[in-house]
Amino acid sequence: MTEQTGRGPEGSREPQGGAPEHREPAHERASATQVGARGPEGLPDEVGADPGQADRATAGAGRPEAGVAVLPAFDDHHPPEQELIDDCVHCGFCLPTCPTYVLWGEEMDSPRGRIYLMEIGRQGEPMNDEMVRHFDQCLGCMACVTACPSGVQYGKLIEATRQQVERRYPRSRRDRAFRALVFRLFPYPRRLRLLRGPLRLYQRSRLGALARRAGLLDRLPKRMSAMERLLPTLGRLEPVPEVTPAAGPRRRRVGMLTGCVQRVFFPEVNTATARVLAADGCEVVAPADQGCCGALSLHAGREAEAQAFARAAIETFEASGVDQVVVNAAGCGSAMKEYGHLLRDDPRFAKRAAAFSDRVRDLSELLVELGPAAARHSLPVKVAWHDACHLGHAQGIRAQPRKALSAIPGLEVREIAEAEICCGSAGIYNLVEPEPAAELGDRKAANVLATGADLLVTSNPGCLMQLRNALERRGRRLPMAHVAEVLDASVRGADPRTLLDR
Ligand code: SF4
Ligand code: SF4
Repeated sequence: MTEQTGRGPEGSREPQGGAPEHREPAHERASATQVGARGPEGLPDEVGADPGQADRATAGAGRPEAGVAVLPAFDDHHPPEQELIDDCVHCGFCLPTCPTYVLWGEEMDSPRGRIYLMEIGRQGEPMNDEMVRHFDQCLGCMACVTACPSGVQYGKLIEATRQQVERRYPRSRRDRAFRALVFRLFPYPRRLRLLRGPLRLYQRSRLGALARRAGLLDRLPKRMSAMERLLPTLGRLEPVPEVTPAAGPRRRRVGMLTGCVQRVFFPEVNTATARVLAADGCEVVAPADQGCCGALSLHAGREAEAQAFARAAIETFEASGVDQVVVNAAGCGSAMKEYGHLLRDDPRFAKRAAAFSDRVRDLSELLVELGPAAARHSLPVKVAWHDACHLGHAQGIRAQPRKALSAIPGLEVREIAEAEICCGSAGIYNLVEPEPAAELGDRKAANVLATGADLLVTSNPGCLMQLRNALERRGRRLPMAHVAEVLDASVRGADPRTLLDR
């Protein structure tokens, strides 16, 4: 039974229950740079210039917290697994790549610290504001998984932990209301579509620009103003045909996830994806009745909701008789590859989900697997490639997009420094934790600009919104495109200005 006690040990930076043997005294802890993270050298002075700001962020200033503690921290429904916790040998190799540790140098905001909190939660420590804050502030970027030499499955650990938090922790009313708004809106393309008209009107009327100039947006709650600032400029809706025939002999029949945010805010990415796949010999099936894949819910710990979306997606694509399912949004692809794990307890779906996950491919993954069928025309453009965390870290897909882009004559791929550090987008992270997300966005924007590229290219709608906003904050603009749009422009022999004049 859940017991809620009084206010937890707020203000304490250390978890209760005694420090584990591996932990150094606070004053002896290595800073992020000492353990190997690249510091802010070479970045503009304003990035990371106010350590007090970072400290306030990690201390949770302004976060809507509940002021209660829940005992025990975890219930018996899939708590973070002890065997997975035990895989961590506390070596610290993950620390330099963890964005929150790089920002704050705080052990409990590192992968190792969060695994320690899971351990003490299992041992009987209460789940309190402080513990939840450290879990909430994890971006779920999986950079620690890439860095870990011991193969710690941090993804499974944080997923189980977030589910416990969502199920058991009574978030404050303000926090609940904001999360309810997000989750009643973003996973539902029809609801998002209804908003497009008013939002386009708002953008075209220049009301937003005026409100910003007058400082009105700064008076909104930070989460609401983040939502407004992240909104991309909305163009015309371009629906993808339900079936796009292969150009030339058919090599595969593939299903295409059209997504929620992608479908409504970046419809041109979906049409470009279908054209590129068709050009390379795929018959593309985009079922009109498909819904959300459940990625946002899964990554936020909303287990039942994610499972319901996953079951519906499996049924939809099973009925379409496709060989594989192609995804052009990194976060969605990563979630769909986890359906087997998500539905492991469901006797009706466990096997189907695992088989389905095996058939999911990221767009660049499939294109490289197939090899090009259509000629690539020259695009003399310098491109900065941004690895979305859910593509690079979560799916291990780094070589394929680079290979697909490098096959375009005249195109030069430039690497972004600190590529392994998240841009701060991370699903709904930049909405619920706007301050650290903005710090990470600033850091990434500086590194992107330092490449001197003409065009920023990535594979995730969230990253596109986050980076555009971060560049705008610096008063800079850089054209951006999804990798599908670049490949499509090359296949069609389009003028590079269609990508650069955006
Ligand atoms: S998932 Fe990302 S933010 Fe979370 S602990 Fe790992 S590296 Fe840090
Ligand atoms: S690198 Fe892996 S084993 Fe080492 S502290 Fe991080 S999670 Fe633990």
